[in-house]
Amino acid sequence: MRVRNKPWAKDKIEQNPQYVVANPEDHRGKWSEIFGNDNPIHIEVGTGKGRFVTEMAKANPDVNYLGIELFESVIVTALDRIIEEELTNVKLLNVNAKDLKEYFTKGDVDRVYLNFSDPWPKTRHAKRRLTYKSFLKIYEDILVDGGEIHFKTDNQGLFEYSLTSFSEYGLLLTYVSLDLHKSDYEGNIMTEYEEKFSAKGQRIYRSEARYQN
Ligand code: SAM
Repeated sequence: MRVRNKPWAKDKIEQNPQYVVANPEDHRGKWSEIFGNDNPIHIEVGTGKGRFVTEMAKANPDVNYLGIELFESVIVTALDRIIEEELTNVKLLNVNAKDLKEYFTKGDVDRVYLNFSDPWPKTRHAKRRLTYKSFLKIYEDILVDGGEIHFKTDNQGLFEYSLTSFSEYGLLLTYVSLDLHKSDYEGNIMTEYEEKFSAKGQRIYRSEARYQN
């Protein structure tokens, strides 16, 4: 993804530690303290500009959301949304998904969302895909037993790869749609990328997969 550099982003993030959690490793195993309640915690890995997590937070006040995003210049837009809407059940982590175990212990997370993850189409880059087996192991190690991964993409190649990866890892596929916007699935919340790609006429794929532990 192309990211426009925003030199002020770092300062803005540091000035808002109540929204972009500073030192997330300090909250490992005790995320309920951050939210002030014991509601389930759902994370979106690669949250981008944050439309999905913020809209989900508004629609589901009994769920706590964490948006995980690598790039400061992108996460600041998600931060703006949270500040503007005064949302209390969504926070952000400006970290790399490969390090999630530093911030979460087994059972901290109730659900993982992956939306329009970078496809990394070259085979030699397969390990970077957020549905590669090493990432599935990381999610397993932070999710509750029987936790779920909900995945959406416009990329047929990544979708096929991911369904195989889920299944080879031993996850149970409980939902698959090959054309989400023409399906009877209710309550879909569009991400920024989803809106962009569907406006171009591209179909959207969606799956739900559950760990069998
Ligand atoms: N989910 C958003 C959407 O659907 O509009 C953004 C999709 S964008 C194609 C993928 C996002 O994932 C980018 O913002 C990228 O910086 C982020 N990302 C990719 N790899 C990541 C990683 N290892 N850790 C955290 N974020 C990552």
